[in-house]
Amino acid sequence: MAHHGRRHACRSTLAAAALLVVVSGCGMAAGPSERGERAAVARQPIAGTAPTVPSPSASAEPSVPAEPSVPAEPSAPAEPSAPAEPSASPLALASSDAPLAGRIVVLDPGHNRDNGRYPSEINRPVDAGGFPKQCNTTGTATDSGVAESTVNWLLALALRDRLLALGADVQLTRQADEGWGPCIDERAAIANRAGAHLLLSLHADGAAPGARGFHVITPGLIEGWTDDIAADSQRLAIAVRDALVAAGLPTSDYLGEQGIDVRRDLGTLNRADVPAVMLEAGNLRNADDAALLTSDQGRRAIAEGLSSAVVAFLHG
Ligand SMILES: [Zn+2]
Repeated sequence: MAHHGRRHACRSTLAAAALLVVVSGCGMAAGPSERGERAAVARQPIAGTAPTVPSPSASAEPSVPAEPSVPAEPSAPAEPSAPAEPSASPLALASSDAPLAGRIVVLDPGHNRDNGRYPSEINRPVDAGGFPKQCNTTGTATDSGVAESTVNWLLALALRDRLLALGADVQLTRQADEGWGPCIDERAAIANRAGAHLLLSLHADGAAPGARGFHVITPGLIEGWTDDIAADSQRLAIAVRDALVAAGLPTSDYLGEQGIDVRRDLGTLNRADVPAVMLEAGNLRNADDAALLTSDQGRRAIAEGLSSAVVAFLHG
């Protein structure tokens, strides 16, 4: 897929981490209060790019330099009570802390179960970031007929449980796997209104049966739309990719590069004013991926990886 490299002046400012200034000067989709939220997000520590902090659940990451035991809140006056041993049990860390306290995470289970029965509603064009696109689509399914919307929904619930256990405030863009919508622009708007620290859109793909693996889609630059979130979203995408690899999931062998793809045609990402990525958790037309994604155990493993990614991103 071709990506135009047109850059906005704000891009370099972003890179200089003067995000507060940038946020007030770029983009046009958010109101003043949302700007404030974004500024708050932008002030989170963002030093470095690689998520070097070991996540509570990704236990033995061999390549991770042994940082002192994790959750060190920026403002924490003292070290957590966990022993200074780099080998401190991840379980102990997770249970003795709430690393996501005060953090707002919006999960977006893609599509909806009955979208196919509401063609006029889901075909209605909405603004996908400076261009029209249909409100929503039906999504794909496994060969045995499990709908993508249902896989996305159940994965969102599993991840919500994990994030709640870590202290996060979690909101979903739909409240059931039933009915239609919401539209892609509204899914982003829910995250914007919530002042979310991040938006994670959950999907599964429908590709050739021989293709497998997950990929994370991060928004490409669209002047006035994504220039305020592209850099942080990319950092989030890397955190998600790294955590899922650590959890043992294979990266896509048919799309993206090392599990990451950049797209400028997705309204859910383009309309977001908070860091946003879309996960294609696997290929539902592939037997191995379908088996993983339709099992509670498989979804739990993915959810655990994703929760680690959220912690790494927000504390990285
Ligand atoms: Zn989808």
